[in-house]
Amino acid sequence: MTEKFVGYYRLLEALDKPGCPICRCLLEDGRRHLDALLYEQVTDVETRRRLRAAWGLCNWHTWMLPTLGGGMTGAAILHEDLVRVCVRRAGALRDRRQSRLARLLRRWRAPLARRRSVERLVRRARCPLCVAGRRSETRYLDTVVEFLGDREFAEVYARSTGLCLPHVVRAIEEGAEGDGLRRLLDDTLPKWTAVGRRLDGFIRSHEYRTSPPMSAAESSACTAAFEIVAGAAGVFGNDLHADDGGA
Ligand SMILES: [Zn+2]
Ligand SMILES: [Zn+2]
Repeated sequence: MTEKFVGYYRLLEALDKPGCPICRCLLEDGRRHLDALLYEQVTDVETRRRLRAAWGLCNWHTWMLPTLGGGMTGAAILHEDLVRVCVRRAGALRDRRQSRLARLLRRWRAPLARRRSVERLVRRARCPLCVAGRRSETRYLDTVVEFLGDREFAEVYARSTGLCLPHVVRAIEEGAEGDGLRRLLDDTLPKWTAVGRRLDGFIRSHEYRTSPPMSAAESSACTAAFEIVAGAAGVFGNDLHADDGGA
């Protein structure tokens, strides 16, 4: 990729702000996408269909809704529809369990049928905003890896917080290797080391358990460390149900 897509300029803006620039872009893209959804696509048939297929937005994008500062009427219209769909689908699970056939075959068939119903529920379509976010994430990662070889971009990156660990791992999963990967690691790891040193300094100046409340600078070093290790809040979800085979 040599062409600078619109995300290149969003990335440049995000590099001027604190935190992982790709996490920042994905958060802002999500909010922009939600705004468009609430103000322009609430009555769009295809949007409704995709949301129903996914049983609504994911947890992350759903809870972005109240933080948008508007559009709650649109959110209410969408969720009135989704709640109705949830009642119907969950009701079908109950009816299946109470069916005569299920009772007759309970000893060996019903548990299997129940498992299949739950599987269908868990294997729902992905959140449409996350699907779009995943495509953007790949382009942001490609852009960082490619343009770190460009002096102008490298200078902006040098002043930034740099990528979080989960995004460095994603870059490798997306195929970063050779000079691109070496530059990414050479330009990022010293930033992580610097955050670690800041934390180390604070820990040494405080007595464990009896220390006074953290100052703003100390708190920001902690936040920076959290983001390096785990990515920005919400972007990488959690492991609570990671082994359920869900979408
Ligand atoms: Zn990140
Ligand atoms: Zn989502």
